[in-house]
Amino acid sequence: MNLVLFGPPGAGKGTQAKLLTEARRLPQLSTGDMLRAAIAAGTELGRNARAIMDRGDLVSDDIVIGIIAERLHEADCAGGAILDGFPRTIAQAEALDRLLLSRGTKIDFAIELKVNDEALIERSGNRVREMLATGQTPRADDTPETLRNRLEVYYRNTAPLIAYYRNQGKLKTVDGMALIPEVAKSIAALLDGSA
Ligand code: AMP
Repeated sequence: MNLVLFGPPGAGKGTQAKLLTEARRLPQLSTGDMLRAAIAAGTELGRNARAIMDRGDLVSDDIVIGIIAERLHEADCAGGAILDGFPRTIAQAEALDRLLLSRGTKIDFAIELKVNDEALIERSGNRVREMLATGQTPRADDTPETLRNRLEVYYRNTAPLIAYYRNQGKLKTVDGMALIPEVAKSIAALLDGSA
């Protein structure tokens, strides 16, 4: 099974993707994690992506499509994958459909985590304050200011995926403001056809 998880920044995609990985025994393919790993490793890709990510803008389609194309070739993706944070544009979604088709497979469901933007910004402020209070360094792109830009980018570039996947009959929308286990339960019910 191939699943796409998308939603505004801070909606809990990464958390739900991890839970799904455990529950369904599928690898989690997070382009955000892959890009952060490239930054930490000091690769050329990481050096190019860093400033873009710190601003909360999107890395180019060609780059992320290339990363995902390579990753999908790995053996652990043969039975499917949880795509977390990819696609984020229509061009990425079309490329993903083509990539999967060439491997004789497809996206089964695209799960949209729906949230309340103001609540997200408040959550982000709380998280930053908590991290600073406990001596941790928040992600550069996790401040309330950058979050506003990431939200704008989401509505401009990523929200069109809602119609894209609805037209394919694959869209499932879940309330991302519920507690983490509740969101996980809703997703499980959708995937198992009991919701
Ligand atoms: P995330 O961890 O998914 O929130 O991603 C963090 C940042 O990585 C995003 O704000 C973008 O700058 C970049 N990024 C991650 N995935 C993509 C993608 N599919 N397309 C473009 N940029 C991405």
